[in-house]
Amino acid sequence: MKTPFVTKSKIDEITSIYPTPFHLYDEKGIRDNAKELHRAFEWNPSFKEYFAIKATPNPVILKILKEEGCGVDCSSLTELMMAEAVGFSGDEIMFSSNATPEEEFIYAKKLNAIINLDDYSHIDFLIKYTGVPEIICLRYNPGGNFVINNQIMDTPSEAKYGLTREQLFNGYAKLKKMGVKRFGLHSFLASNTLTDEYYPALAKMLFETAVQLQNDTGVKLDFINLSGGIGIPYKPDDKPNNIAVIGRAIQKIFDEILVPHGMGSLAIYTELGRFMLGPYGCLVSKVLHKKDIYKQYIGLDACAANLMRPAMYKAYHHISISGKEDAVCDHTYDVTGSLCENNDKFAIDRMLPEVNIGDILIIHDTGAHGYSMGYNYNGKLRSAEILLKATGDFSLIRRAETPADYFSTLHVTGYTFP
Ligand SMILES: *Cc1c(COP(=O)(O)O)cnc(C)c1O
Repeated sequence: MKTPFVTKSKIDEITSIYPTPFHLYDEKGIRDNAKELHRAFEWNPSFKEYFAIKATPNPVILKILKEEGCGVDCSSLTELMMAEAVGFSGDEIMFSSNATPEEEFIYAKKLNAIINLDDYSHIDFLIKYTGVPEIICLRYNPGGNFVINNQIMDTPSEAKYGLTREQLFNGYAKLKKMGVKRFGLHSFLASNTLTDEYYPALAKMLFETAVQLQNDTGVKLDFINLSGGIGIPYKPDDKPNNIAVIGRAIQKIFDEILVPHGMGSLAIYTELGRFMLGPYGCLVSKVLHKKDIYKQYIGLDACAANLMRPAMYKAYHHISISGKEDAVCDHTYDVTGSLCENNDKFAIDRMLPEVNIGDILIIHDTGAHGYSMGYNYNGKLRSAEILLKATGDFSLIRRAETPADYFSTLHVTGYTFP
């Protein structure tokens, strides 16, 4: 059973002011979850979560996370600019990019961000444009398969990210010789994991690597960045991760592997996106049409341009009908958007209560990688974003796009649009 974080009466209040579709965020849920994460890692005094901006690039959301003690993880020029606008600087910004243009390294350096390099060749590239930084992080790709309990979680050897083990060790030695003072190690090996064992398995591999690095090269790491990858229960019967259990498991491995080597002051960093925001956002959309052909279709005012995950990954997103949360699911529908693409379906063969034209559908768990993956195919416009505050009030934190936004880059053609 999955229930929306917002009541029907609140939805009615919001939709009487702001037209659907829009993404709605739950401030209380975001804050409570961030506090739980910090409790899970309070054993590590220098712990810091760098929220992956790409998941939910809105300054109001970033400000809430900043107030909860988070930094940000950026991977592009505009994400760095947004971080700067919200007031993040220095060690509060991790810059974990790949195939990076030089102007982005220069901008990251200007903000004194911690730069996380994705390749051995980027060492010389970075230094050519920014000089030798005081602190640097390297992203490790161990290759092969990443296996937990005989189950393949992902295949790093097929991933474009990171340095090989040999490059990693050579990279730290080279950077140390060049005068870099502080070092970090980063790795991201599996996405949306729904097991409390992913982060500890990753931590164990990185802690062992840190010890070997210290033995072989004398480089002492300041932090280990476990990156993103903790998943959320998109399906009603998915078992949620228990962040307290994950934190304790990592503490045990930390005490076993790092402490005996005098590395007990090493900081643990995370770069979570989905875990921080996913469940605390939903896409609110109205039913415009019902269509009865070979199957039963529901036509919404939202489409894949507002939420791409179902079309792109066949991802499951739970759907509730506002006010019918407890009704029996005795109808089968495909729930669709209006793109001229047959994969523009939020759900296929989904059991729902009877849907009527005008019903408000709540598409769950769109708080991360939802709005941010939006696009303008078919000339569709991106939706508004609204924050449901902890006080119960709500406010617009991004207006919906208008046709003028869509046409704005075409002014160079000399045409004028209605
Ligand atoms: C996307 C990304 C994250 C966040 O991933 P989630 O799956 O949302 O936790 C963290 N770090 C980097 C480098 C990323 O690209």
